[in-house]
Amino acid sequence: MSDDTSSRIEGFHKMEPDARLQAVARQAKLGNEAVATLADAASGQIELADRLVENAITSMAIPVGIATNVTVDGRDVLVPMATEESSVIAAVCNSAKRCRSTGGFRTSTSGPVMAAQIQLLGASDPENVRLKVLERIGEIKAICDETDPLLLKFGGGFQDLDIRVIDTAEGPMTVVHIIVDTRDAMGANAVNSMAEALAPKLEEWTGARSLLRILTNLADRRLARVRAVWPAEEIGGEQVRDDMLSAYHFADADPYRAATHNKGIMNGISAVVLATGNDTRAIEAGAHAYAAKDGWYRSMTRWEKDGDGNLVGILEMPLAVGLIGGATKIHPTAQANLKILGVKTADELARIIVSVGLAQNFGAMRALATTGIQKGHMALHAQNVALMVGAVGTEIDKVAEELKTLGKVRQDLAEGILARLRGEA
Ligand code: NAD
Repeated sequence: MSDDTSSRIEGFHKMEPDARLQAVARQAKLGNEAVATLADAASGQIELADRLVENAITSMAIPVGIATNVTVDGRDVLVPMATEESSVIAAVCNSAKRCRSTGGFRTSTSGPVMAAQIQLLGASDPENVRLKVLERIGEIKAICDETDPLLLKFGGGFQDLDIRVIDTAEGPMTVVHIIVDTRDAMGANAVNSMAEALAPKLEEWTGARSLLRILTNLADRRLARVRAVWPAEEIGGEQVRDDMLSAYHFADADPYRAATHNKGIMNGISAVVLATGNDTRAIEAGAHAYAAKDGWYRSMTRWEKDGDGNLVGILEMPLAVGLIGGATKIHPTAQANLKILGVKTADELARIIVSVGLAQNFGAMRALATTGIQKGHMALHAQNVALMVGAVGTEIDKVAEELKTLGKVRQDLAEGILARLRGEA
């Protein structure tokens, strides 16, 4: 955008997407090529984009690749992953292959249970408020279940109350958690509606004032767990196994390392979450908050050596994913990806996603403890750099190959190679 561009576009949200694009093009002084690129990028899904978000002008395609070799609880599954980052899908394929001989990934879950919080303020005796609310559990259940009869029909609904008195900078507050089984829905809208319906009644019963009413993404009653075993010979020997354990102990003790270690896990998790139209931010928030549950931020995974010298990996994390609601049900690509996965319930989906997270962590730790992360990234990164400097067609592979041979993937070098290929230098 140039300096004289205004961010004010009268009636923008009421326009059709095409008119919005033209208005943006005028304001941002876009050329025909940029406008055509944005229009083409919607690839026939502009109506969907317009239904999903406000002020839509186009869509942005993220590559979807398939992770192969994955066995979850004895079932082989092809896993669609939506990611723009190179090496992520290859790492899962490779890691999953290396634990096939021991049966792949074994999972368990705690059930599809979500919680919403209602903040109560101004109570002279927060503990008293806590008891007053608990006495009304029958009425609370009725209010919540009446809010979502469909959820009740599918076997979900209100389950329990958890009432906490927390210390804050402005004194104690009472926080009411309504615990709800949301079945095959992620459940944000479901529990938020219940919390909003319940809040006025809580005010009436307690004399306190309700303020915030929203789910917690720290969905620690909706846990997915996975365990897998990698024989030492599949890893590259005992030294590599032990170095991977040292890598894990580093991450578990140091938040600087843990942030990157866990980011790697989320490379896998978020890619499947996105491919299935689920909410990546919700899952990421829950994952990182859960990683800090012991009072400091640590590794989301646990790794150990078993009696036979195998490397055993464990991942337990909140995974509030659904098959109903959000973009999942209305995005045709998400629906097709769910068909590839062959899942019938949100629970099955969570089991696959947590397995991919563990596989990703194994791949990243093994790479880091051996050749380093750049070697695996090099090939695809070289291609990206070739594209960045404007290589087209067969030039892309030629530039990438030369960069790899040089062992330096740099834009200035790629520019020189491309110029030479084109006889310009
Ligand atoms: P939703 O409200 O669209 O769908 C859930 C509803 O579908 C249920 O309440 C129920 O009435 C019905 N339903 C039909 N069949 C069902 C079945 N088999 N199992 C369960 N319910 C069934 O979606 P949702 O899952 O409540 O909310 C998910 C959306 O909320 C996501 O798009 C998310 O991005 C968004 N969101 C997230 C946050 C957050 O994470 N902080 C906050 C607000 C909204």
